[in-house]
Amino acid sequence: MTHQFDTVIIGSGLAGLRAALEAAGAGNVAVLSKLYPTRSHSTTAQGGIGAALGNEEPDKPEWHFYDTVKGSDFLGDQDAIEIMCGDAIRAIIELEHMGVPFSRTPEGRIAQRYFGGHTKDFGTAPVRRACYSADRTGHAIVFTLYEQCQLKGVKFFPELFVLDIVIENNRCHGVIVLEISTGEIHIFSSKVTLIASGGYGRVFKTTSNAYVSTGDCLSILYNRGIPLEDMEFFQFHPTGLYGLGILITEGARGEGGILINGKGDRFMERYAPTIKDLAPRDMVCRAILTEIREGRGIDGKDYIYLDLRHVPKKTIKERLPEITTFCKTYMGIDPSEQPIPVIPTAHYAMGGIPTDIDGRVLMDEKGSVMQGLYSAGECACVSVHGANRLGCNSLLDTVVFGRKAGRAIKEEIGRDTAGKNKKEDIVGARHAVPLLERSKIMIDSILKCNGKERLANIRTELQDRMMEHCSVFRDEKNLKGLIESIRNLKERTKDIYLKDKTRKFNTELIDAIELNHMLNISEVIASSAIERKESRGAHYREDCPERDDTSWLKHTLAFKTDKEIEFRYKPVNITRFKPEERIY
Ligand SMILES: Cc1cc2nc3c(=O)[nH]c(=O)nc-3n(C[C@H](O)[C@H](O)[C@H](O)COP(=O)(O)OP(=O)(O)OC[C@H]3O[C@@H](n4cnc5c(N)ncnc54)[C@H](O)[C@@H]3O)c2cc1C
Repeated sequence: MTHQFDTVIIGSGLAGLRAALEAAGAGNVAVLSKLYPTRSHSTTAQGGIGAALGNEEPDKPEWHFYDTVKGSDFLGDQDAIEIMCGDAIRAIIELEHMGVPFSRTPEGRIAQRYFGGHTKDFGTAPVRRACYSADRTGHAIVFTLYEQCQLKGVKFFPELFVLDIVIENNRCHGVIVLEISTGEIHIFSSKVTLIASGGYGRVFKTTSNAYVSTGDCLSILYNRGIPLEDMEFFQFHPTGLYGLGILITEGARGEGGILINGKGDRFMERYAPTIKDLAPRDMVCRAILTEIREGRGIDGKDYIYLDLRHVPKKTIKERLPEITTFCKTYMGIDPSEQPIPVIPTAHYAMGGIPTDIDGRVLMDEKGSVMQGLYSAGECACVSVHGANRLGCNSLLDTVVFGRKAGRAIKEEIGRDTAGKNKKEDIVGARHAVPLLERSKIMIDSILKCNGKERLANIRTELQDRMMEHCSVFRDEKNLKGLIESIRNLKERTKDIYLKDKTRKFNTELIDAIELNHMLNISEVIASSAIERKESRGAHYREDCPERDDTSWLKHTLAFKTDKEIEFRYKPVNITRFKPEERIY
């Protein structure tokens, strides 16, 4: 079946929702999601959304700008960062007016708390910049934006899985999707398509990310010739529950929690004397793993403690209820009475689909634009986070750049209402037909798979290998071995066995498609990591431990070719803050 919309948005997380709300002003808008819309990963965001409101103490967008640049290890594009930090206050007030129930100060203002890497006066001390709704901030914003979209007539299509993206002659014409409940394949033909498909933390064994964060659309676009930017930069969050990876928000340290090692030392005092436990995530992760490697884990084991016992019980109850429940449910621990065993967990993709500041997808290092295709949110790389994202800057990124992309789409749709687009609709639907057929063949061939391999085993091996050789510490030898393993696993997927041969709600089929995308993305991450022979932000090479601004102050673009991946580079946009040593 073919559906026709002016705008088709893939993803109902915060980036997709915010863009939909804006684009709904011109033409009709469809939002497609492989989940029920409000179950997107954005809903799980806990700790906060950053803006220099200055409600609790003096703060300025300029300080936020500086912190984000420094946090990014100077790889973030400063034009984009300035826009994000400058627009943050407006964005928060707008969310408040839409109905987001932010936590409040006693005077009734939006409350703010400390978060890693956010400082006052260019790094002199931590500042309270994260606005929050207890530790359910994502939940509060997703539900509010979902309601607003409903009011504007945005049409939602839940549980549709994008199989392919229709691109012909440098123009996007829509997508091919699988209706999960029936197994039917549909064409969504559109004038403009926005990809807001989120992250891909599931390529690692220990992750805070939802099961659906598998990077499908990045992999599809990469296969279609769009480069992927800065894929070597994947953030680990310092505090995942030990053995599970479930996130304990940085807000826990923002409310006074500290990290202690097996000797009972507050070790971050040694690594970041000024802001200690509130240092950026890349630094805290390396510090934790160094403590563990040097035998100072708890009882010599591979975890450390996050200690909240000194934080007032009232604060924990009111501001951290969600993580308290997690600790009780999964670990049998009451965080106000016992320290929480934690370990770094794969959390956030800094890299992704290259875009300009209005979300237009870029095809090369010269900035050539792919017509009719936009991207925003975690899957996009605009790049505001550079080599390392600061906590509470991702939610901000989704609403600021989601809105900007929505505005640009609205303008584009509004500009050519007359005949031109009608013609494009017909052309688009025509281009989609061969891809629809190809998707059908792909699904049929997966359903027929009768080999020896179980896909769950291949997935587990991939996640284990990525965790061992491509997480917080990396080196060339292990990365090379990893790439070999990934290629070997790719071969093995040709010999999988699918138990479920039916078409309706076949989750095994979805798993098989996702696994192919995860393997594809992992190869790009590992290959980009080999190429970058320096250490910067979340990418730490033990064999090249220094940052090298002379050779590597540039963005990586990875292109798919028939043989090896081709790498090209583009300069970082530096407008205001020159690279300096990163001391906290
Ligand atoms: C546990 C956790 C806590 C976090 N806490 C914070 C925080 O406090 N502050 C902060 O700033 N950031 C936080 N982050 C990061 C932040 O929440 C995310 O980066 C952000 O919400 C991503 O939003 P998004 O709209 O880009 O994507 P998502 O919310 O991940 O949405 C992706 C959408 O794409 C759809 N999709 C994907 N693939 C397909 C496909 N093949 N077909 C159809 N649909 C598809 C999904 O169904 C989904 O609707 C947290 C992240 C996690 C994991």
